[in-house]
Amino acid sequence: MSKPVAIVTGGAGFIGSHMVDLLLDSGFAVRVIDNLSGGHRSNLEHRKGDPGLACYWQDILALEAGTPIFEGASYVFHFAGIGDIVPSIERPIEYMNVNVQGTVRVLECARAAGVGKVVYASSSSCYGLAATPTDEGHPIAPQYPYALSKYLGEQAAFHWHRVYGLPANAVCIFNAYGPRVRTTGVYGAVFGVFLRQKLAGKPFTVVGDGTQTRDFVYVTDVVAAFLAAARSESSGERFNVGAGNPQSINRLVSLIGGDVTYVPRRPGEPDCTFADIRKITTELGWRPAVSFPEGVRRMLTDIERWREAPLWDPASIAQATESWFRYLGKEKVQ
Ligand code: UDP
Repeated sequence: MSKPVAIVTGGAGFIGSHMVDLLLDSGFAVRVIDNLSGGHRSNLEHRKGDPGLACYWQDILALEAGTPIFEGASYVFHFAGIGDIVPSIERPIEYMNVNVQGTVRVLECARAAGVGKVVYASSSSCYGLAATPTDEGHPIAPQYPYALSKYLGEQAAFHWHRVYGLPANAVCIFNAYGPRVRTTGVYGAVFGVFLRQKLAGKPFTVVGDGTQTRDFVYVTDVVAAFLAAARSESSGERFNVGAGNPQSINRLVSLIGGDVTYVPRRPGEPDCTFADIRKITTELGWRPAVSFPEGVRRMLTDIERWREAPLWDPASIAQATESWFRYLGKEKVQ
């Protein structure tokens, strides 16, 4: 019998490449669609030559309904998109194009091919400065264009579910971390910043006083949630995915070990992110398996990967986050 087929858009990216691993290991034939704007071929290097893997290095904005890439697919996992706060403030049209219009194209291809389930990668940033723990019914309050674009993409998926009957769920990711977390490009993602600083023997640039907490969730747990959301009977649902156990930046510093220096807090940044994960645990039977100390330990064994990553310091961070302060530093965003 031939293998079931799964499509992973953004499959050369951080989370997408772990999705590819889980699917191949679970007996799927996997088709990756990635334009390599944020992803890297090296994220799939360890799968090279795997007969179950086919890669299409193309843009989701170029997808047309009826494309043979989607033919016969059971599931579509949609991670392709652009991230990061600062560039989204500077280039909102591009974010709306890729994250919203690109999603619509993926949905149209999925509809035309009659796929069994689309699982959309949603972002906890859509909740804004949220009450915690944050459940799926929390009011939506995007603080910057990236968050808005991810939310609109999710709404498109639900719209295709309602109007066209396309089976679709969304997994709302809190702070995913793990091997292959992005190391290049613009400032952001605390793990990449700190691991590079550790390798260089430089102090960690702690934002504020480091007491802010994040719901860090290990990437293999995240992709397990996506597979569960694909396999479940439910449709038109959002499921939060976090560890449900927020950790402070100071705790992260103590686990990695090193000196610190402080940089100013940014407007629009929550003090705490904390996923209420009761829905996914009860409805899908998913729960996080990798503890925070264990996850950090695994990342430290992989630290050499950050050797070529940009090395940030307070001065370069101040410069990189200038538009963040300029556009979001107003009372009205609260
Ligand atoms: N952070 C930090 N130093 C840095 C970058 C980030 O202390 O150089 C903190 C930041 O204030 C936040 C946490 O790390 O509390 C996670 O930041 P990231 O940008 O990874 O995710 P997000 O803020 O989007 O949740």
